Parts: sequence; C-alpha cells; structure tokens
Amino acid sequence: MDVSFLLNPLNDAQREAVTLPEDVHALVLAGAGSGKTRVLTHRIGWLIEGCGVQPWNILAVTFTNKAAGEMRARAAALIGPRAQSVTLGTFHGIAYQLLRQHWREAGLIENFQVIDADDQKRLVKRLLRELELDEAQWPVRQAVSFINGQKEEGRRAAHIDPGHDPYLETMLRIYRAYEEQCARGGLVDFAELLLRAHELWLKQPAVLAHYQQRFRHLLVDEFQDTNTLQYAWLRVLAGGTGRLFVVGDDDQSIYGWRGARVEHIQRFTEDFADVRVVRLEQNYRSTGTILKAANTLIAHNSGRLGKNLWTAGEAGEPIEVYRAFNELEEADFVCRQVEHWLEEGGSRDEIAVLYRSNAQSRLLEQALLRHRIPYRVYGGLRFYERAEIKDVLAYLRLLVNRNDDASFERVLNNPPRGIGARTQEQIRRHARQHGLSLWQAARQLVENGLSARARGAVSGFLALIDELERACAELPLAQQLIEVIARSGLQAQLEKDRSEQAQSKLENLNELISAAEQFRPEPEDEDVPLLTAFLNRAALEAGEHQADAHTPCVQLMTLHAAKGLEFPLVMMVGMEEGLFPTQSAIDDPVKLEEERRLAYVGITRAQKKLVMSWCEKRRWQGRELYPMPSRFLSELPPECVKEVRLGGRTAAERDFSGVSGGFSGRSDFDPVKMGETPLFAIGQRVRHAKFGEGIVIALEGSGEQTRVQVHFDQGGSKWLLAAMAPLEAL
Ligand code: ATP
Ligand code: MG
Repeated sequence: MDVSFLLNPLNDAQREAVTLPEDVHALVLAGAGSGKTRVLTHRIGWLIEGCGVQPWNILAVTFTNKAAGEMRARAAALIGPRAQSVTLGTFHGIAYQLLRQHWREAGLIENFQVIDADDQKRLVKRLLRELELDEAQWPVRQAVSFINGQKEEGRRAAHIDPGHDPYLETMLRIYRAYEEQCARGGLVDFAELLLRAHELWLKQPAVLAHYQQRFRHLLVDEFQDTNTLQYAWLRVLAGGTGRLFVVGDDDQSIYGWRGARVEHIQRFTEDFADVRVVRLEQNYRSTGTILKAANTLIAHNSGRLGKNLWTAGEAGEPIEVYRAFNELEEADFVCRQVEHWLEEGGSRDEIAVLYRSNAQSRLLEQALLRHRIPYRVYGGLRFYERAEIKDVLAYLRLLVNRNDDASFERVLNNPPRGIGARTQEQIRRHARQHGLSLWQAARQLVENGLSARARGAVSGFLALIDELERACAELPLAQQLIEVIARSGLQAQLEKDRSEQAQSKLENLNELISAAEQFRPEPEDEDVPLLTAFLNRAALEAGEHQADAHTPCVQLMTLHAAKGLEFPLVMMVGMEEGLFPTQSAIDDPVKLEEERRLAYVGITRAQKKLVMSWCEKRRWQGRELYPMPSRFLSELPPECVKEVRLGGRTAAERDFSGVSGGFSGRSDFDPVKMGETPLFAIGQRVRHAKFGEGIVIALEGSGEQTRVQVHFDQGGSKWLLAAMAPLEAL
C-alpha cells in the first residue's frame, strides 16, 4: 500500500512522530503552529493505512467540538470514509456517549439531562436559598467552582473530611445538597460527565475491559490542558495495553483556572514506560514577524520546557497597534480594518477578532451590525445560552422530565402568569419540607394549601405543561418546538414588544426551530426520545452552533476559544491592564503567567497579519476607566510593531518608537493619573483600613465621583467614595 500521500506533506521530525512504532507511547512537544494537530491526524491515517489498525480501535480526543469536526474532515480527506469509524470527540462528548450507552451501570436514569454552566448556577443559587445561606457571604460562583473543582479532582462530597473548618463544612453542605438534587432530577453537569465516566471504569471492570480491548490507540490533542480527572480517565482506559499518543505545548496551557495541569506533560514520561518524545521546531503558520513577537513575549515566563520555533516563511508586515479613544471607537476601528481587508481582496472568514472577556463581544457585534458585516460569535453569548433559547429549552425539558427543578423554576412565571414571589417561595418551602421536586410540590399545593388566586394560576401552568406534552406526543421535533413557543406565550410576549431586541430574539427562536428541523440523532442516541437527544446535544454544543454555515463570517471569540485555530488576519482588542491581563492576575504571578500564555495563544493564531488595540478610556461594567496599555504590548520586540492612529477618517501613521509613542515611556499614556483611581469591580475583595475586609457589591458614578458599596465580612455594608476611602483592592 502506498502511503506516500500520508508522509509527503510532513517534515522529517513530523514524519518521525507519525511513523513511530505501534507499540510505544509518544509525546509530541512543540510550539504553536508547528504541525502538532497535523501530526495527530496523519498518525490516525498511518495507523490505519500503514499498520493495519482497525479504525474502531482508535480514540482521538480534541478540545472543542469544532476542532473535532475539523479533524474528522481532515482525516476523511486523507483516508476516506473509514475515518468515520474512528471515535473522535471532546472528553465531554466521549463521556456523554459512554454514559448514554451504560447509564444503568453508571447509576443514572435513562433520560438523564446534561445541564450547562448556567443551569448549574441557577440550581446552586436555589440551594443556597433552601439552606438559608446568605448569598453575599456565600457567593454562588464560589460554591459552583468549589463543586466543579472537587469533581475535577475526582472527589465526591462523601470523600471529603471537613475537619473543623467551618468554610469547608458549609461548602460540603452545599455540595451534598447539590448531589442529592442532581440525583433526584437526573441532572448531569459537565464535570459530572467526566467523573461518572471515570467511576464507570473503576466500578464496572467488565465495561472497562471491553473498552480497553477496543481502544488500542488513544490520541490526545492539546494535552497541556487536560485536568486531573481527564488524565486519570485516560490512564485507566489505557491500562497495560492501550498506547497513548499525545501532543501539546506547555506555553499554551490556559485552563489552569479550570483545573488543567500542565505538569501532566512532565508526568507523562514518568507514568508510562517507553515514551518517545518528539520535538517539532518549524512553524508553518505565521510570518517571521508574528513568530518573533510570540517568542519574545513568552520568554518573559519562567519555568518553561523551552522550545525553538523558527519559520522559513517571509518576515511579513509589522504588527499594528492601535490606540483608540474609547471602546466604541475601537469597535469602529475593527470594522474599518475588516472593510480594508475585504477591499484588498480578502474574505470575511479569514478574520478573527479575539477578546479576553465575553462581555466585550456585545459592542463589537453592534458595530459589525451597523457596518452590515456578517459575523459569528463563538463562545460567550452563545446561541444556546441566550435567555430566549433557554426559556424554550426549559419548557421542553419539563415535558421530558417534570422533576427538573431548574427548568420548572425558570418557566413557572415566564412569561408572567400571575404566580408571585410569595407563591413561588411557598412551593419551594413545601418541596424542601417534604423532599419533593417543585413540580410534585406544586401539584400537592394546588390540591390543598394555596390561596384561590394562586391556585388558579399554578394549576393553569401545570395543565399547560401536561397539555403541551399531549399535543407534542405525535409531532415531529420542529413542530413540537413551534407548539411550545406558541402555546407557552413566549412568542406573543416577544411579538407584543416591538423593540429590535425582541425582534432578534424572535429570530433566534426561528433559528432554534431550524436547528430542530436539521437535527439528526447520533447512533448512541437512538434509544432515547428525539427530544431528549436534541436537548442534550444543545447543552453539549452550546456555543458551537453556527447560524448559517454557508455565509462567510468574521469570527468573534474569546482568546480561550481560539486555541488550536488559525486565521490570516487576527485582531486582539482590549489590550489593557486590568482587562488583559485581568485585574486579578496583576498581583498574582501564577495567574499572570497564564495570561501571558493566553497572549501567546492569541498572537500565534495569526497567519499573515496581526492587529492589536487598546482604549484610552473604557466604560467597563458600569464604570469609566482610564486604563494603561497592556504590559504585553511593551513585551513585544519594538522592531516588530508599528503604532497606527486614525485621525478622523484618514489613517495617519506614526512610528511606534517615536517620542510620543512607546509603551514603556509612560508620559503619553497617563492622561488621568490612572494609578490613583482604584480599579474596583463588583464581586471584588477589598480591605478597608478601619472596617477590615469585604466584598464590593455595588458601584455608581464615575471617575473621582465613583462610589462603591462594600459588604464587610464583620457584617453590614457601607457606601464609600472610592477616591477618598482608605480602601485597597485585594
Ligand atoms: P497549535 O499549537 O496552534 O495547535 P499545531 O502545532 O497544532 O498548532 P497545526 O495546526 O497542525 O499546528 O499546523 C499549523 C499550520 O501549518 C496548518 O495550517 C498546517 O496545515 C500547516 N503545516 C503543518 N505542517 C506542515 C508541513 N510540513 N508543510 C506545510 N504546512 C504544514
Ligand atoms: Mg493544534
């Protein structure tokens, strides 16, 4: 069999990696754009074509569904339809597939529901109320990240001994209540998918043996971002027979905050015998200038494994840095760059706009809309996370599972049907006291316990759901959605409201109906009702839904979501201290290095041209800031950078290293004594000279007049003038 088509498009080091013997473990350690993902894909081809491995003996893990789709397409282009029999997906997707098939062995109900981060937050919020914990003292976010953190380390509530630590005791109470709640409702969050899948290995040796027998080759992309549980899951699955082929880059480890452990790269060579390590050094993606900038920036980090990256390509254009007047002007600048790129003959899908925080997308979206530039958002304000979509999905979930409390709570009075806060609280209390789901509690209270008015409203709601279920029973999926959107009253509510926002929500609902029309269940979903399969896919693929795959679009995404991707033109916006690096990273060297790796990831996405921008003034989370340019700008080699400034409509370029420019010479970048306006954000911890530590719960005013409301740990809250009060950010 001639396999030259697999090996010719590779350089020597890549070929060495691809053709390593079948029976060794391998680690490909290399910088951005050096062909790691290409090597992994060709390795799949090589195993099948060159070694006669059956495709179903191969499991390949990628980091996002988008990456999995791309790898599948690349593999299919190489080896044809046999690529379809390779198991290829994200850790979460693969775990879901496993649990679907082995729900009984995994201790789940057959129709278990996957819940996303937002559902999870709601659920925890409700539990806090039930446990009578004050949210100001026990923030939802903190509890959620405790639960997820424990799960990612493989620990259930029963495994944790709180000792006499009151903090831990409370967290455990929440965790335990959460576990009960999920078990009762058949709910599975993202971390739970992995934990269950791992426990499946540990508790069901027969199942494990079956999969060990089946998956002889385990390939993992972006290995630097596996968390403890994922790594353990892989190790157990590999057992004594499976062979691992992992590729990664320690400089691109950006999920430490979510439990990823870059140390797995180092441990890998110790945990497995006979690991072959291959390094790739030639970058094929970016121009010399972009690569040099990336290398120089990342050299500011310590404790790297160290790599040499070079390119045979041309130097290309300098990196453009734009200093915008404010965030509106920045968004406008982005649009003009897009237009310029198109005028020069480029296309929209060659462009990515990357930002640190999801919330930044809204203004960019607005500007793009105004300029009539089609765009698509990956991550962030994801399609399936939009409120109107979640409302419909919650109705659908209730149809499938009445005991889904999160959904019940979401739609009980949405659209408003006269079920007030007091009645809702009464239902909650009754559920709590009798260990019932909210649905069951409402049922009982309708019989006995509610006031006449409330009874009418609640029983109307219960009847609506039962009625919807009956009406939908025989309908095709899309028709079910139409029915639910209409009869729930959601549609009428939006139609009544003539605002543009309501209009776009209606458009989103229509888009959801098309998604249902196009929905085809995966083989592992064959035995569950179509609606359940649809809902679970919606949760799993949140954010990776594409409005219309055929229109070329400018792509908007967070820096995190951009990992592994590449674009001819990349724009990184909001390059400001406090935003990127984030405020909390500025004083934390560990976090700061992770931010720098994130900057490295961003820069190395660019193939031909890289543009960065920052704002002199930014309205951010309700406050007016005068940020400094990001330190990452000053860490770029000056000779690779050109500062551009648009005066009015015409671009007047200035030499970046000129007198008034230069990010290290501060004179010009210090318009309003930035250092003296403390950067407070809601949720931030602060210390007051007299009142001690607390948490910022509200902000108002701007500049010198900014007032912050702080809830102090010792109790009580106070409004303080930010500029005057002896208050420091922690
Ligand atoms: P990242 O670290 O960002 O995930 P990577 O190491 O996975 O990057 P790839 O995405 O596999 O890199 O490759 C980067 C680009 O270089 C791709 O466009 C790929 O097709 C191209 N490329 C890789 N190897 C070669 C090669 N030997 N010849 C030509 N092009 C190559
Ligand atoms: Mg890659």
